[in-house]
Amino acid sequence: MIHKILPVGPLQCNCSVIGDENTHEAMVIDPGDDIDDIIAVITEHKLQVKQIVITHAHIDHVGGAMKLRAKTGAPILLNQNDYALLKMLDVQAGWLGMKPPGDVEIEAGLAHDQTLRAGKLAASVLHTPGHTEGSVCLYFPAEKMLIAGDTLFARSIGRTDLPGGSFEKIKRSLHDRVLTLPDETKVIPGHGPLTTIGEEREENPFLK
Ligand SMILES: [Zn+2]
Repeated sequence: MIHKILPVGPLQCNCSVIGDENTHEAMVIDPGDDIDDIIAVITEHKLQVKQIVITHAHIDHVGGAMKLRAKTGAPILLNQNDYALLKMLDVQAGWLGMKPPGDVEIEAGLAHDQTLRAGKLAASVLHTPGHTEGSVCLYFPAEKMLIAGDTLFARSIGRTDLPGGSFEKIKRSLHDRVLTLPDETKVIPGHGPLTTIGEEREENPFLK
């Protein structure tokens, strides 16, 4: 597996470029910004991007998606429960003092338990509402890896005070759909350092 993590944009969202080293098919997760850096990785590894996956519709995760689609032709996927939030990108840009990225066109939804593929790589979609209604995580069982979006961070969890957030829902998502994964699962959060499910089970004060 080819996997590059690029912290992009002013909020340093962890964008993942994940590719099959044999077929060179790839997916890009959360291209929030800095699309030229993402394209450089794609070019370096001769990747063909099959899909652009958005863990949730916050501007720091989705802001560069249309630019990346224009350069790769890949479809943009987002859970339908975040479509309303996607319509508020101008408002979100205002919160952060950023330039609104314009409309983002979603080609398809992301349903719980759906499998996404790039070459021999397979990820299951976990719908994990709480940070937003349409937040998802991507679990790669063969690679024992979770792309967690803003649902789980090292020693923290996603904020739930923004529109669509719910502390009760994020707790339920974490307990029912994230903490059920094996301890050795490597976690790539939406921001900040990497961790594992086992470490968070032991050390994360929000999961007690
Ligand atoms: Zn977020």
